[in-house]
Amino acid sequence: MRGRGSYDMAIRAMENLAGAGFRDFKISVVMTRQNVPQLDDFAAIADRYGAQLRITRLRPSGRGADVWDELHPTAEQQYDIYSWLLGHGEKVLTGDSFFHLNALGSEPIPGLNLCGAGRVVCLIDPVGDVYACPFAIHDAFKAGNVRSPGGFDRVWRESALFAELRRPSTGGACSGCPAYDTCQGGCMAAKFFTGLPLDGPDPECVKGHGAAALSAVARDALPRQGNDHSHRTVPLGMPAVRTARPDRLCDESPLAGADLAAHTLKGTS
Ligand code: SF4
Repeated sequence: MRGRGSYDMAIRAMENLAGAGFRDFKISVVMTRQNVPQLDDFAAIADRYGAQLRITRLRPSGRGADVWDELHPTAEQQYDIYSWLLGHGEKVLTGDSFFHLNALGSEPIPGLNLCGAGRVVCLIDPVGDVYACPFAIHDAFKAGNVRSPGGFDRVWRESALFAELRRPSTGGACSGCPAYDTCQGGCMAAKFFTGLPLDGPDPECVKGHGAAALSAVARDALPRQGNDHSHRTVPLGMPAVRTARPDRLCDESPLAGADLAAHTLKGTS
């Protein structure tokens, strides 16, 4: 998925970080149908390099929309993730990815057990637009822009969207579910981008209501992610050689101008 050689590059980077004494850097893994059985292996890699594992839910937004149908974990795998997090989750970061899995048992998984959108997280994109969450880049979830009068402070405190998201929900179609207190109807972005109502069950509802609701959705009319300004022209790999001098050296490389040899000597003296 990430391209040939990307795994080796990531391992090499971790070796370098660990070799330099850098600890607790994060390994971020999106859980898919293909890699749920590898959870122990990811944890072992994190332990080997003194890093911290973060696992994230595959959302049907952005480029995830193109692969969600075939790659989102099966019902059995959702149970595997829940069980694994109960046993190993204290050291693992999950953000607000898996709180909907709490409907699987009486014990909540460690971590943030609510949707953080507009409450504890938001996304500010490169042009200053503020969205309720990184997986909800769409006009329906745009709260404002940090370049407007009052800046981010005003958007965060006064946006009507955020006020709405912070209001307690009645549960809508989920209100009769005995698991509502822990699951809370699941992920707003996952519902929106699969065409489900926001006050209905999550598409991956562990009681099967999401799958039933999805079967009634016209898949060719789903909302698509809006203007994502973060993926415009960012190339992967080494920058091309150019002859013209950039306005600022750091436009070309974050290490521009750094005297790495001197730094290394200082660090080892
Ligand atoms: S019906 Fe709603 S609250 Fe109950 S488990 Fe499914 S998504 Fe969660």
